[in-house]
Amino acid sequence: MTKLLQGLEQGRLLGMTKTFAMTIASALLLFAACSAESKPATQPTEQPAAAAPAAMTPITEETLAKLALADAKDGKVDKLVHRCAGCALGMDGEEKWPLQVQDYNMHFCNQACLDRYAKDPAKAIAALKIKN
Ligand SMILES: [Zn+2]
Repeated sequence: MTKLLQGLEQGRLLGMTKTFAMTIASALLLFAACSAESKPATQPTEQPAAAAPAAMTPITEETLAKLALADAKDGKVDKLVHRCAGCALGMDGEEKWPLQVQDYNMHFCNQACLDRYAKDPAKAIAALKIKN
């Protein structure tokens, strides 16, 4: 009985360590993304540290490569992803549901598709499967 409990306890500790490591890893990723993307748009004033950004997946080269593929999918390479990424580029998006992701402008087919991407664009784009 004691052995069993010890085993359980060990398993739990291992689980906790893993979760902790993952938390640290994502914190580091976020930090890296912040430093890479803190190009001030208009004012060169520094943001106070208290204004922490929302927890979003950083946009990587991979994200941009995926966007380039999605861009080409509508027949024109113009940094406008006109096909709805929320529908795996299976249907046309519309101008009234736009999302800017770095240089790319994405059009979605409805509010739900847009919301899904707006929440965490890089994560959603990473999960997007583009068929050839
Ligand atoms: Zn859609």
